[in-house]
Amino acid sequence: MTFERLIKSILRYNPKADVKLLEQAYHVAEMAHEGQLRRSGEPFIIHPLWVAYILSELKLDTDTIIAGLLHDLLEDTQFPPDKIKEKFGEDVFLLIEGVSKIKKLTHPHKVTEQAENLRKMLLAMAKDIRVILIKLADRLHNMRTIRFVSEENRMTVAKETQEIYAPLANRLGIGKLRWELEDLSFECLNPEAYQEIAKKISEKRQAREAYIEKIKKELMSKFKKAEIEASVEGRPKHFYSIYLKIKSQNKPFDGIYDISGVRVITNEKNCYEALGIVHSLWTPIPERFKDYIANPKTNNYQSLHTTVIATDGRPLEIQIRSKEMHTICEEGIAAHWQYKEDGGKGKFDAELNKKLKWARRLIETYQDLTDAKDFMEHFKLDLFADEVFVFTPKGAVKKLPLGSTPIDFAYAVHSEIGDHCFGAKVAGKIVPLDYKLKNGDIVEIITSNRVKPHQDWLRIVRTSKTKSRIRQWMKNEEEIPPPKEAKVVHLPLSTTAKEVLHRTPKPLPAKIKIAGVDGLEVIFSKCCHPVSGDKIVGYITRGHGVSIHRATCPNIHSEAFDSAHMIDVAWEMGKPSSYEVGIRKAINN
Ligand code: MN
Repeated sequence: MTFERLIKSILRYNPKADVKLLEQAYHVAEMAHEGQLRRSGEPFIIHPLWVAYILSELKLDTDTIIAGLLHDLLEDTQFPPDKIKEKFGEDVFLLIEGVSKIKKLTHPHKVTEQAENLRKMLLAMAKDIRVILIKLADRLHNMRTIRFVSEENRMTVAKETQEIYAPLANRLGIGKLRWELEDLSFECLNPEAYQEIAKKISEKRQAREAYIEKIKKELMSKFKKAEIEASVEGRPKHFYSIYLKIKSQNKPFDGIYDISGVRVITNEKNCYEALGIVHSLWTPIPERFKDYIANPKTNNYQSLHTTVIATDGRPLEIQIRSKEMHTICEEGIAAHWQYKEDGGKGKFDAELNKKLKWARRLIETYQDLTDAKDFMEHFKLDLFADEVFVFTPKGAVKKLPLGSTPIDFAYAVHSEIGDHCFGAKVAGKIVPLDYKLKNGDIVEIITSNRVKPHQDWLRIVRTSKTKSRIRQWMKNEEEIPPPKEAKVVHLPLSTTAKEVLHRTPKPLPAKIKIAGVDGLEVIFSKCCHPVSGDKIVGYITRGHGVSIHRATCPNIHSEAFDSAHMIDVAWEMGKPSSYEVGIRKAINN
């Protein structure tokens, strides 16, 4: 990498770039790092040059490129910080300072250290996201040259890349960086699998390329007929995504057919028309169709995805999107700092603010999480989150992370609804509270004033927002002792005190399992008095918890009871338990 090559790359998108200032930055970096070597044996300056070059490929503004050139100055050299401010301005200095705060891990196995680093990263991100862009470029070049690093450090860095940096790039929508980070860390952590996939792919390359060529021709001639302007290109899949597919589908490599796909780039107004043409040519697999244009991902990714049974009888994935959507997919959040001819920054700010909400939300959610392990776990979950789109009965759409449950949904609708979530129906049918929501589910929440958040919910819910809300609720609850509830029991006249004791269902030690969910209020029906060991069914009442009846109870089978409210229950086995029931003595006179 040379400075000339960097300048050439910058001038391509920003012909008016301040080359003089860039040159000064380059000389400062070269001088400050003089005598330092990379582990590869090359002069150190090669590294900041590459970092700046990667940033130029994202078409970033001059301040970011300069900060890229100087990013290791504070930590690795004696260069006076004031001089940086003086020569290149406050903005550049703050960027470099932000990057330097995110340290190399000295004790990579210490969760506390990792968590502390992530907190800093989030704070930096909320202040100026360009800090993270520089950090990602830095990590990318370090991963490209990781073979020179000692085995132990290599594993640590690769693992951190796979778990934090690649998902972070994905969350920010920068596909370009994400895929390369994923493949490089995969190669490092799992070299055998990587080599095997590489070998298999190259073996069949010719046949595959010929096939994609055929598909392209077929599509292009149809598009031409329909007068749709479009370009079609083959799209080799990344090694890591193929690996994940093999793992998740538990198939041998030969069983994975769609290792390459096709991408159609057309005008925004033609995307759906192009989809229609694809589906008229080949049969689509319905469950594989995804409309990310109508429902963009949280990182703003937009595209239509469909998988069809193509000419050779095998599944082929086709993505359809506009040129703008494609740019967003490749460059994501970086697009907001790209050099613009008209310098028009203002109109982007509102949109950018929306995107940064994610970082701010994380910071808010996590400030209560003092436990480092908890923090790491949540952070990773949030990074990897993919979404499901579900609907309220009135048709309002809610976007939730994959794996969300009805409780998450209830909280997403309103925290009051979450706090009193008693049960849920999907498409009119009762589902357990740990049901994993699927795309397109219409979810109706059944609430009860008697229900309150329960410790066990923490195991069921998916989003950190829900978790922190439940935790908050329980913390408050601990501080205020709950009032003792008075209970009214109807008894016949002239019942003795002793009989009252026997006729009053006690708070139960005998536990009931409800369709795999804990924490729901249970009452034993007074019509059939089920006792431990009886065959039982549960009935979801309006506002009084789940009432437990004997399976043979005539009431439960009567018309007054809606069978849609029935739910599977069982006696919790394990510890021996007992509770009191009323016994009626039949007296024959
Ligand atoms: Mn560096």
